[in-house]
Amino acid sequence: MEAAFVNFLEPGDTVIVGVNGLFGERMSDVASRCGAKVIRVEGQWGRIIEPEGMIQAIQGNPEAKICAIVHAETSTGSHQPFEEIGSFCRPKEILFLVDTVTSLGGCDVRVDDWGIDICYSGTQKCLSAPPGLSPITISRKGMEVLHSRKKQVQSWYLDLTMIERYWGEERFYHHTAPISMLYGLREGLRIIFEEGLETRFQRHRTLGDRLKMDLEKLGFKLFAQEGYRLPMLSSVYFPRGVEDLPARKRLLNEYNIEVGGGLGQVRGKIWRIGLMGETCQDQNIACLIGALQEILV
Ligand SMILES: *Cc1c(COP(=O)(O)O)cnc(C)c1O
Repeated sequence: MEAAFVNFLEPGDTVIVGVNGLFGERMSDVASRCGAKVIRVEGQWGRIIEPEGMIQAIQGNPEAKICAIVHAETSTGSHQPFEEIGSFCRPKEILFLVDTVTSLGGCDVRVDDWGIDICYSGTQKCLSAPPGLSPITISRKGMEVLHSRKKQVQSWYLDLTMIERYWGEERFYHHTAPISMLYGLREGLRIIFEEGLETRFQRHRTLGDRLKMDLEKLGFKLFAQEGYRLPMLSSVYFPRGVEDLPARKRLLNEYNIEVGGGLGQVRGKIWRIGLMGETCQDQNIACLIGALQEILV
C-alpha cells in the first residue's frame, strides 16, 4: 500500500480514495502522508461504494492523479465492484489503484481486463503463503507516470525506480531479497495452480455461503450488504446475550479458533470470520459451528 502511493504521488497531487472501512481509511492516511490532497468518497461501513460516486469524483476533480479503492474490505466483508471505474479511467491519464490483499487467490482478480494500473496484495491471506511479502504490479501507463516524476521517490526502500533495476535484466543490487519468503510464496502458488483457480474460487464461494447460512441458523445476522458479500470473510452481528470479548476468548482458548472482532467504528458490534485459502475448509466450519453451539447455550 505504501509503495503504491509513495511512488506515484508527489506533494500537492490530488488522489481520490473510496473509504468504507478500515483499509480504505488506511489508504487515505498513507496518501495524505505523501503530501497529497485526498478527496474521500465515503461509503457506509458494510456497504459498497457506488462506482458512480467514484466516477463523479473523478469528473469533479479532473486533475486527480490516482483513483484508489479496496476490492475486498476485510474490516466489513464487502466485495467492491469496480469494473466500471476501471473502464472509465482507462482512456484517461488518471491511474486506477486497487487493494487486492484479501481477494487475490480467493476470488477473481483480473488486473488488466479490469483496467487496474496499480495493484498490490499480500501473501498471508488467500494465497496462504507466509506473511511478509507484498506482490505488486504496475501497468505501462503507471510506469510512465513513475518515470516522469519531478522529484525522487521519498522512500528509499520502496523506490520502484530502483527496484525496477534490481528486478530487471540488470539485477542491479538494491536490497537483500528474502529468498526463503520467495520460496514459500512459490510453493503457495504451486498449490493454487494444482487446485486450479476456478475450483479454488468455487470452494471459497460454496463454503463462504455455507458458513453464512450456518451462522444465521444460530441467530447471527449478516452485516455486509446483500449481493456484495465476500466469500472469504463473513461479517456478522452476534446474537443478543453474547459478550464479544469473552466469547471470542473462549473460542480461542478452548477451541483454538480465532475469530476477528470488529475494527474501527464497528468495534464491539460485529465478528469477522475468515475462510481464506488453506483455512477455507468444511471441517473448520463444522468445528466453529460446534464450538458456538456449546458456547451459546
Ligand atoms: C490485511 C489487509 C491489509 C494489510 O495487510 P498487512 O499485511 O496486515 O499490512 C491491507 N488491505 C486489506 C484489504 C487487507 O485485508
